[in-house]
Amino acid sequence: MCYAIPGKIKEIRGKTILVDYFGEEKKALNELSSLSVGDYVYAQGGYVINKVSAREAEEVLSVWKETFFEYQERDLRLSRVSLERKGIDRKIAFILDKAVQGVSLDRGEIVYLLNCDQPETLELCFKTANFVRQKYLKNACCVHGILEISNYCKQDCAYCGISTHHESLSRYRMSPEEIVNTACEAIDEYRFKALVLQSGEDGAYSVDELAGMIREIKEKSPSFILVSFGEVGISGLKKLFDAGARGLLMRFETSNPELYEKFHPGRTLATRLEHIRKAYEMGYLIITGALIGLPGATVEDHAGDILLTRDLHAEMYSFGPFLPHPNTPLANTKPVSETDVLKMLAAARFAEPREARVLVTTAFETLSPDARKKGLLAGASSVMLNVTPVQYREKYAIYPNRVNQHASIQSQIDETIELLASLGRAPTDLGARMGYEDRDR
Ligand code: SAH
Repeated sequence: MCYAIPGKIKEIRGKTILVDYFGEEKKALNELSSLSVGDYVYAQGGYVINKVSAREAEEVLSVWKETFFEYQERDLRLSRVSLERKGIDRKIAFILDKAVQGVSLDRGEIVYLLNCDQPETLELCFKTANFVRQKYLKNACCVHGILEISNYCKQDCAYCGISTHHESLSRYRMSPEEIVNTACEAIDEYRFKALVLQSGEDGAYSVDELAGMIREIKEKSPSFILVSFGEVGISGLKKLFDAGARGLLMRFETSNPELYEKFHPGRTLATRLEHIRKAYEMGYLIITGALIGLPGATVEDHAGDILLTRDLHAEMYSFGPFLPHPNTPLANTKPVSETDVLKMLAAARFAEPREARVLVTTAFETLSPDARKKGLLAGASSVMLNVTPVQYREKYAIYPNRVNQHASIQSQIDETIELLASLGRAPTDLGARMGYEDRDR
């Protein structure tokens, strides 16, 4: 099983190529030199990752061809929704009508939706979010891997279990060799096409060392690499981009500047946002979002979080529940409910009906055993699997009792593929909503 399907090049326009996938065409940016019309390639995040032989591609495609249309049918069936609205709040009905037509919601509408707590109305909202996802993005689902390379962190974020607050935590730092080998294994043996490298803000690796590892991974195993090392500075981001990183996973955590400063003493939201905006300008694909339910965060703040994510040109919305960690100052916060998270996923889908990828986060999976299925049926279209070596996973304790602490990579893959098949989703997403040359720089 792979996490992308190869496509056939239909047309080459300078650096942009058009790739055909069972009749659907997508654009990708070619950074490889020698490609011709008719070649097969893997693309991820809007970039060509590598060329594959016709034999290999046709083998994968012949397996997929049988299931591809069957999955699309299944997805279509599961995402049907009747907008007959007996007893449904009129304003919600109006909002859902707008969303179905692909029109983005405004702040007031998002707030209204997030304030809704009538179970039948909410059920209709979630189903409509799923319908909208199907209508505009079809059944493609992103399946990325995440490798947590170190839990050392010099920051004191009030909510985070790997921050300096957690003095008793046993710390680990993978060696550069182990990082490269683990990443290459995920790409070559488990067939991930996109991988996030994440860590606390561990000053022990210099940006140059991180860049060296990315270079080595990409040389050995062509892939789409996303970085998530926190605030490495704008010149640091540039070095990582030049080394081959093409995605940035960086949440702004909260769009409320006062709350941001309260939970990140001495730091500002503006600096965090500058990283994200500059990264976008450099050509990074952006995954960002916020924590749901930080103490003091209001529904208006959460609507602001969704709108800020949109404003930051996020390719993927990453919203997960804040799960209090006992060794942090926010230990006694009441966690949010499953419904609160689903509302945010649906609202994210409605904020950008045509383009957003919406992630079901590991934190949500930790909060609720059915999170993945429920999230994917409420507008989400993406999941991440943990490829960190099992011996380190417990130590990457951003919040307590994370799911999949002991699950092997293969068992996570099997479980994911089974769930996606039951929902008619294909792990074939190519990312990138637009060619990079289309960006207004
Ligand atoms: N150092 C990186 C990665 C931070 S950890 C960076 O600064 O981006 C990754 C994410 O975990 C954070 O962005 C935060 O949103 C999330 N996180 C931290 N503590 C959490 C908690 N208690 N509950 C849920 N998510 C948490």
